[in-house]
Amino acid sequence: MGAASLDPMDGHGPGAPGASGALWVVALGGNALLRRGQRGTYEEQVANLAASAKQLAGLVARGDRLVIVHGNGPQVGNLLIQQEGAAGQVPPMPLHACVAMTQGLLGFMLQQALDRELARRGLHPRTAVLITRVRVRPDDPAFAQPSKPVGPFYREEVARSLARERGWHVAEDAGRGWRRRVASPDPLAIAELDVIAQLVAAGVTVVAVGGGGIPCTGDGGVEAVIDKDLAAARLAVDLGAAGLFILTDVPHVALDWGTPRQRSLERVTAAELAAYRDAGHFAAGSMGPKVEAVLRFVEATGRRAAIGPLERAADVVDGRAGTQVLPATAATVA
Ligand code: ADP
Ligand code: MG
Repeated sequence: MGAASLDPMDGHGPGAPGASGALWVVALGGNALLRRGQRGTYEEQVANLAASAKQLAGLVARGDRLVIVHGNGPQVGNLLIQQEGAAGQVPPMPLHACVAMTQGLLGFMLQQALDRELARRGLHPRTAVLITRVRVRPDDPAFAQPSKPVGPFYREEVARSLARERGWHVAEDAGRGWRRRVASPDPLAIAELDVIAQLVAAGVTVVAVGGGGIPCTGDGGVEAVIDKDLAAARLAVDLGAAGLFILTDVPHVALDWGTPRQRSLERVTAAELAAYRDAGHFAAGSMGPKVEAVLRFVEATGRRAAIGPLERAADVVDGRAGTQVLPATAATVA
């Protein structure tokens, strides 16, 4: 502990030791903030983040360099419900602006949790939250097929009239009601990549690309959401990270998920994992994008990636938990 202040806002005390260790991109899933059955109060999210921050602070404390990406699904959903529910009094903001708002709020909460953990270890926290834009192609085929349901449920007539008034795409969602649907385009480039790299080089632990980033074209924000796992892979490749770790709420990626034949994958090569993907083992919208993300990273860099449980983050990073995905050549050696 030493003599360092326990107040994370106090600008004194030693920083993290080397800040020259391996650079990892870590993606946190919905369970970092909300557990099943919780309502989503501020206090619930603060308590959940405290547990995750312990794991991440342990990595920072030993000198690893982290860029942390987080999801925002439930939070941006709740924000859209607030926007629409109060539309008679306050004009609703566009979706991409709501993504920006959740980046700010969730980034702040994550930073508080991390700083508190670092201060507890006697380290002077050096963390930054970056509002991040992610470039997408205006002609991405995803815009022709909006697939991602967002925001409140409506009765069909209401949904159809909102679609006319606002140019929304609406569709029935799994028997639960009508919802807006937006495109989920591919992340092309991280607009703030240089700034993130400079912060990392300066020894700062960075929270960036929250919620997959604010989708932008050359003309500004667009009404879409980017998958956070694919955006994390883009970031990890472009930053030259040594590893990509996707932390979620299952111990492993499974084959034949949800069937009596379900079995866990512990170590696979990218080529093996790609073959399982092609055979249809991974659900679109949940495990599918995570598998795609790790494959993109491993194939582009020849480095290791993993998908594993958030509560064992440090073990996932160290190759002792989760599904470890290795470049083809490493599998025989390791
Ligand atoms: P996150 O919020 O971390 O992005 P998701 O809910 O999007 O989490 O994805 C994780 C979920 O994917 C798991 O809780 C599990 O229910 C589901 N899932 C679907 N297919 C698989 C699979 N093949 N192996 C493991 N989990 C799977
Ligand atoms: Mg997800």
